[in-house]
Amino acid sequence: MTEPQHSVKPAYDIADEYRPEHAPPTPAPAWMDGSMRIGIHTTIAGNLVASLDIARKLGCNALQIFSSSPRMWPRAGNVRIPEADAARFRARRAELGLGPLAIHTNYLINLASPERVMRVRSIHAFRDELLRALALGADFLITHPGSRRGANLPQAIAEIVDGLRQAARGLKFDGLRILLENTSGMGWAVGARLEELAAILGAAPELPLGVCLDTAHLLEAGYDIRSAEGLERTLELIERTVGLRRVSVVHVNDSKTPLGSRVDRHEHIGRGKIGLEAFGRILNHPLLSPSGVHGLAGRAFILETPIDKPGDDRRNVRTLWKLVGLKGQQAPRAEDGFSMLRRPKAARNRRPRSGSLGRKGSRGSKEKRRG
Ligand SMILES: [Zn+2]
Ligand SMILES: [Zn+2]
Repeated sequence: MTEPQHSVKPAYDIADEYRPEHAPPTPAPAWMDGSMRIGIHTTIAGNLVASLDIARKLGCNALQIFSSSPRMWPRAGNVRIPEADAARFRARRAELGLGPLAIHTNYLINLASPERVMRVRSIHAFRDELLRALALGADFLITHPGSRRGANLPQAIAEIVDGLRQAARGLKFDGLRILLENTSGMGWAVGARLEELAAILGAAPELPLGVCLDTAHLLEAGYDIRSAEGLERTLELIERTVGLRRVSVVHVNDSKTPLGSRVDRHEHIGRGKIGLEAFGRILNHPLLSPSGVHGLAGRAFILETPIDKPGDDRRNVRTLWKLVGLKGQQAPRAEDGFSMLRRPKAARNRRPRSGSLGRKGSRGSKEKRRG
């Protein structure tokens, strides 16, 4: 007590010296063990945490969600996820062993837009998507490159790259990757040709970019993945353009419309123009399957199929597990009778033209409206 604080000259102790420490090696997450990862786009209509339990009850070990309403610009105050909610979400996901977690961006975002106001809005919204994805501990943020609306392609690609850079400025990515999704080529959509995705990847090597390939969009854009030879040719082209190592997610959707239609309409697995046999080849291909010799550990196969009647979601998940021959092994047990869609589809919704899309949880029909 009597000793004045500064009377003793502190001895130099080497232990006090600041040395930047190597971050301890983060162990690879369990979902990257080479096991098959199958998921479905899951509704967040209840709440975010509930979507995790839904995915599990449908027999998934991976999932995709929106982190906010996909067709509205989030209202101020609704843009960020409170940390307590995000923490609950991360904890529940760890408990359920779900991975990877993919988030699909809002459909209104258009980084390719030639209109200034729309572009600025899109860049802000994309940054908010990145922040929510980081808060939730997502592995992938999947986005459509955008719609160029009359602008020429090189200009649109430059705008997209610039938009991504601005949105990502100063963020620490923590393992999160942005995946550019190929499109069917409807309207002015960029990304129907794999070379277009490759051009974006090539122009922004400093960003953590990858690719999500949608099987329906591939067929609709003119890539014939129906036959064994067609699949080989397409895989060669994928390797030559974006590179298979960058394909972290495959959206597994059959297509209502034929090869080269450029019209995006998802269909149940095996009931569309791609067909069950072709999906068997796709899921088990040694270049695509995460357990294949040349596959990518952690690559996920995620459904965005329609839910026309209760149980369609569970059945499509089960079809994928059957196609990879793992039912009852790596496949989590689905809950009997469970579905995201609880009530029978109303007769007025049964028109072939999907005009009313108010139904919650029917990702497929939502996806129809934009590639
Ligand atoms: Zn999409
Ligand atoms: Zn998709």
